[in-house]
Amino acid sequence: MSIQARPITAADGTITGTLAGLRDVHEQVLAGEALASSERRYRMLAENATDVVWQNDTDGVLRWVSPSVESVLGWAPEQLIGTSPRDLAHPDDRDFSQRQRAKAYGGESVPRFDVRLLCADGSYRWMSLHSQVTTDTDGTATGIIIGLNDVHERVLAERELADSERQFRMLAENATDVVWQLDADDVMGWVSPSVESVLGWTREQLVGTSAIELIHPDDRESREQWRERLIAGVVVPELESRRQKADGSYRWMSLQGRPITDTNGSLTGVIVGLRDIDDEVRTRTALAHAIDHDPLTGLVTLSVAMARIDRWLGALSDRGPDPGIGLLCVGIDALKSVNEAFTHTAGDRVLLTVASRIASVVPSPDLLARGSGDEFYVLLPELASSTDTSVIAEQIRVAAQGTVTIGANHVETTVSIGIAIGGPDAGAEALVRDATLAMHRAKDHGRDRYEFFRPELGQEATDRKIVEERIRLGLQQGQFVPWFQPIVNLGDGSVVGYEALMRWVRPDGSIVAPDDFLPIAERTALIVDLDLAVLKQTIEMLGRLPAPTFIAANLSAATLASPDYAEHALFELARVGVDPTRLHLEFTETALFDVTGRALDIMRDLAADGIGWYVDDFGTGFSSISHLRDMPVTGLKLDLSFTGGLGGADQTSERLARALVGLAEGLGLDTVAEGVETPMQAAILRAQGWKHGQGWLYGHPEPMPVVR
Ligand code: C2E
Ligand code: CA
Ligand code: CA
Repeated sequence: MSIQARPITAADGTITGTLAGLRDVHEQVLAGEALASSERRYRMLAENATDVVWQNDTDGVLRWVSPSVESVLGWAPEQLIGTSPRDLAHPDDRDFSQRQRAKAYGGESVPRFDVRLLCADGSYRWMSLHSQVTTDTDGTATGIIIGLNDVHERVLAERELADSERQFRMLAENATDVVWQLDADDVMGWVSPSVESVLGWTREQLVGTSAIELIHPDDRESREQWRERLIAGVVVPELESRRQKADGSYRWMSLQGRPITDTNGSLTGVIVGLRDIDDEVRTRTALAHAIDHDPLTGLVTLSVAMARIDRWLGALSDRGPDPGIGLLCVGIDALKSVNEAFTHTAGDRVLLTVASRIASVVPSPDLLARGSGDEFYVLLPELASSTDTSVIAEQIRVAAQGTVTIGANHVETTVSIGIAIGGPDAGAEALVRDATLAMHRAKDHGRDRYEFFRPELGQEATDRKIVEERIRLGLQQGQFVPWFQPIVNLGDGSVVGYEALMRWVRPDGSIVAPDDFLPIAERTALIVDLDLAVLKQTIEMLGRLPAPTFIAANLSAATLASPDYAEHALFELARVGVDPTRLHLEFTETALFDVTGRALDIMRDLAADGIGWYVDDFGTGFSSISHLRDMPVTGLKLDLSFTGGLGGADQTSERLARALVGLAEGLGLDTVAEGVETPMQAAILRAQGWKHGQGWLYGHPEPMPVVR
């Protein structure tokens, strides 16, 4: 029975008796005892397990909790008893656990689920929760017993994995990057859809195939090393490697990877993110290539070639007795005037054409390097003998000969070649210098030929530098003056004009002939200044001479192509007040050869103003009749070598001179025979029909015009 009692008190407060009420609770007590025994069972379990058990009443108030709660969540049981453990659940988990509890009270079976519970230190811990509703004997719920297992580490690990996978996939679904998941044997599992736009494969084509097959054969080893390190847990940088596209071509991709392991840590595969860096890599390699290669010809630069030469020279001594390493410097003969006469684009065309002609005979294309300007270098690392070099030089010389068409013009190309051979003691720099010097020597000796380097050339180069400086200074100080040699009418011997011949009057009074300094000046822009200096003085002299006496001035190919020359000539003629027809300009056949394009226009302009153009040294060059017809030429000057041969036993000169005068007459050109030294020569020339003569017979070049 259940007894309820109340004391009975008197008015002064003293107790006078007890009022008791009795209720039959027999069944209830029996049921309670049964319950208590099951509770004890639970509690026993709970007390021994590391996990936590607690008991709530139907209002959700915690009535009992196992002491283990302290070690798991940090709370002392007293702190929790009487509170509502609902508040311990993470706000995000509350609704869910609430629903689960409602289900449990509704009699549904509730599977285990994970919730985060607040720890005494403020952090949350993942616990796996299972619950059981307690009822009294008539089945009315009296509360709920909850068992909690600490699953924090496992959940975190799972979450992390899921997160990273989700992350990868999200990236993969949306980005242009490709992501694929490979199993432990590199077989493709999941592939992102972007693979189709990036590599051209469909996902279906790839899934189930080996990822190795797509790797460029040259990249397989590095990819394998990368994967091994990745799996070993080493932080690996992104790997650049090529993947094959569906069309068979390869694209550079940057790889990022992450190994996937199951919960016990064993490898199940690798997730790989592939970023398309093809353009990037190509730009980069192009840049690297650009540094080492000449952009125009694609040939390696001289500095690359020099590094190579140094390496070979270093290896020479190991090779035993050896003729050494050959280096050819190949200079294009007419390039400077092409650049000056036309545009640089035209010059580039000539350069490219000659480069490919040279390349066609060079043993291997990577032995050909581009130097500065018009120079190429040919490396000959394995010489059987030094004559090898001259054989190859000759092949190059012949191969380089030919025509390059620029618009309506044709430029004939030739090359001059310098040869240097270096032994183990040589250095690349010295070898290049020697070959270049020898090439200049070949140019000085008439172009279209080859020369071996000789030690004297080194000295000459130094000397030349000194002369160059002196010329520069001499120009400033007016040391370059024209001397005048009379030109006569061969019929009556009267002086009709003069040729202005440049002389260098040195400060010490010595006179230097043009052959001793013009070749040096012609290698630099100095030649133009020299010609201009002489032209100016020539026109001034014309102003002092009576009309119609003319003076013929000489100009080199570079001067002819220089843009200012015509302007200067016309300006000076106007300034001094001289009729332009009294100025003749002489240029050699060789220069004529280079004359095309802009220079030709200049010639035509000046000719239109009345200036006469004369082809110097006629008969020694290669000018063709078509050249003469197309150019504004007034007359021809017979080279003195022909004149010198007149009247001798050999009739060749005589026949040639006759043929040439016939040609000139046929073209309606004026004629001047140079180098007339004897009356006999004069008589023959006169008889042949040469109109004018010039030579020692009539007068030497003198500082002032001499009238005979
Ligand atoms: P060039 O134009 O053929 O000049 C003729 C050369 O023959 C001159 O040599 C002259 O002195 C020489 N000479 C004249 N008569 C005789 C003779 O009867 N017998 C012999 N053996 N020689 C004779 P020079 O003055 O030493 O000039 C040499 C070359 O220098 C010239 O040959 C010309 O190409 C060049 N030159 C001279 N002055 C100038 C100039 O102002 N500018 C340029 N660019 N070149 C010039
Ligand atoms: Ca001349
Ligand atoms: Ca001449």
